[in-house]
Amino acid sequence: MAGGTDQSQTTATRLVTSGRSNDPHVVNPPVYRASTHLYDDCAALREAPKSNRDGQFFYGRRGSPTQWALSDALTEIEPGAHGTVLYPSGVAAIAGALLSVVGPGDVLLVCDNAYDPSRHIATGLLKRMGVEARFFDPLDLDGFAGLFCERTRAVLLENPGSLTMEVCDVPALAAIAKDHQACVLIDNTWAGPLGFAAFAHGCDISIQALTKHVGGHSDLMMGSVSAASQGLYAKLRHVSQELGQVVSPDDAALALRGLRTMGVRLDRCTASALKIAHWLDQRPEVAHVLCPMLPGAPGHELWKRDFTGGCGLFSFVLKGGDDAARCRLIDALELFGIGYSWGGFESLATPVGIDGSRTATRWPKPEWDESDRFAIRLSIGLEEPDDLIADLERGFAAVARA
Ligand SMILES: *Cc1c(COP(=O)(O)O)cnc(C)c1O
Repeated sequence: MAGGTDQSQTTATRLVTSGRSNDPHVVNPPVYRASTHLYDDCAALREAPKSNRDGQFFYGRRGSPTQWALSDALTEIEPGAHGTVLYPSGVAAIAGALLSVVGPGDVLLVCDNAYDPSRHIATGLLKRMGVEARFFDPLDLDGFAGLFCERTRAVLLENPGSLTMEVCDVPALAAIAKDHQACVLIDNTWAGPLGFAAFAHGCDISIQALTKHVGGHSDLMMGSVSAASQGLYAKLRHVSQELGQVVSPDDAALALRGLRTMGVRLDRCTASALKIAHWLDQRPEVAHVLCPMLPGAPGHELWKRDFTGGCGLFSFVLKGGDDAARCRLIDALELFGIGYSWGGFESLATPVGIDGSRTATRWPKPEWDESDRFAIRLSIGLEEPDDLIADLERGFAAVARA
């Protein structure tokens, strides 16, 4: 619990001051590599569950001071958050959050451009539990409003949407959901709390894959869910404990270390991504740059209105061509790695595979030339952007040579 949050501090400063050690002579909280907490006597052992509160060290699975330091820090940097629960991965965070708010007979509305594993949770695990998932076009407010029924319990948003980067009108969608007493969850991994204040824009639950920006160094898997109210926080915590979920204290310490530099890393990645997006936008081989930070790109106006920051992740669509040309381009890159995940210090490039995973929207977009359908996703890291541009130039040259 972020009891000591000084609201006069800016978030940038809270990235540095939050989740510190309780010992005034040590900067970082110690890594409690411990399952067991020892009690002085039987009376103390029996007393502990009665006074067991968040933030206390009761038993390893409930969290040691290392994990509490991280969840406190995440709560302190998320404006309006009541508390934060940690999960062993981003997907575990999404599953844990959904399991906390829907049950048999309920309807869950999911934005059509949700991260693929999120779709699979909805159409797999939740379906088997008797939850009905309905997918919606996040850019169609009327269509969204028309989907609600008596049983609609929750809405899962992602902004911008995975791979295709559509920016949706979160306050408008959340207002419609509120009219129907539905809980609004958002996968806020792209912008994180520095770039998008989820609770101020009407969301009730904000989810992050800490694997990405918070870890920042491609060396850990973790997720978090922050809740705007005590009631929702208690539900999240209850379900995560029922499922026996805990993160390792070593990983929590790594995530806390990543958090300290997240602001400067994001600033750098955002500036580099924008420079590269501008460059791609001028290339004759590129049909569309799907980067909401880029003026004129789809979603830019909403991004400007609602976001206070960006990151290094965006996609672009090649003009014509085929999958082989796209792969030739990616394979010719020397600085960009080819691999999943993003938000690390190193740049990555992957072919975007959407085929078959959208049900409420069309891809490629109906208004595009039909031959423009092969997209590449870039995660821009901390390298010099001009070197990355030279690398992409190498990629385009490899396509031209073929
Ligand atoms: C990567 C990702 C996740 C899942 O995170 P993991 O830690 O890999 O499970 C969730 N949402 C989005 C948008 C992601 O890109």
